[in-house]
Amino acid sequence: MGVRSRIAAGAALLIGVVTAGIFGMMTHKEALEEASSYITYVIVEEEEVADSPKIALTFDDGPHPYYTEQLLDGLKERGAKASFFVLGKQAQAYPDLIKRMQEEGHLVGNHTYSHMQLGKNNREAFKAELVKTSEVLSELTGEEVQYVRPPYGSWDKGFETELMMFPVLWTVDPMDWCSDDVAGIVRKVTKKSKENSIILMHDEYKSSVTAALQIVDILQEQGYEFVTVDEILFD
Ligand SMILES: [Zn+2]
Repeated sequence: MGVRSRIAAGAALLIGVVTAGIFGMMTHKEALEEASSYITYVIVEEEEVADSPKIALTFDDGPHPYYTEQLLDGLKERGAKASFFVLGKQAQAYPDLIKRMQEEGHLVGNHTYSHMQLGKNNREAFKAELVKTSEVLSELTGEEVQYVRPPYGSWDKGFETELMMFPVLWTVDPMDWCSDDVAGIVRKVTKKSKENSIILMHDEYKSSVTAALQIVDILQEQGYEFVTVDEILFD
C-alpha cells in the first residue's frame, strides 16, 4: 500500500470512528482518543514508506588514478552511488579502479576508447571504439556493458540495436571541466537539480571531485538518494 492509500485508509478509519462517536457507540472523548491513535499511525507509516526522491551523479572521462580514488572514498563514506562513463584507454591503465567501482555498486558505462566524437565519416571507427571499450570493461567487471555516454552527445540510434547499448545523456551540466570554482559548481548543480536529475561531471579534476562530494552532502540533507542512472531511466 502506498503512502496515499495508507493516508486514505487512515482517513476512512478516522471518519468511521468519529461517526461511531456521533451515533453514541462511544463517547466523544473515546472517539477522539481512537482518532488520534489513527493519526499517529498514519504519520509514522508515512515516514517509513515514503520513497526519497532519486538523483544521479554521472562522471565522464575517467578513471583518474588519484581523483577517482578520492571520489570513490567520499561516495562510500556517504552511502551514495554514481555512474562512471569511462574511457577504454583509462580503464586499461587503471583496471583496479574499474573493479572497485563495480564492487562498490556503481554503474560502469562506456565513453568510447579515446574520447572519439561521432561525426559524418567515422561511424565504423566510432563503433569499433565502443566495442573495444566494452570488451575491456566486461573483462574487468564480468558484466555486459549496456550504457554509453557518447562524447559531446553525438549518437546514432542504429547502435542501439546493433550493439544493444543505450545512450545516457544528462539534464544538469555545471560545465565543471572549464572551472575550478568549487562553490560555483556546487551552486549551479544544487540550484538546478530536482527529482530524477542526471548530473554531468568529470572525475579527473580535484575541483570537480570536491564539488561533487559537497553536492552529495547538500542534496542528501534535502532528502535525495543518490542512485545509479539506470534506476532513474527505467523505474
Ligand atoms: Zn567526455
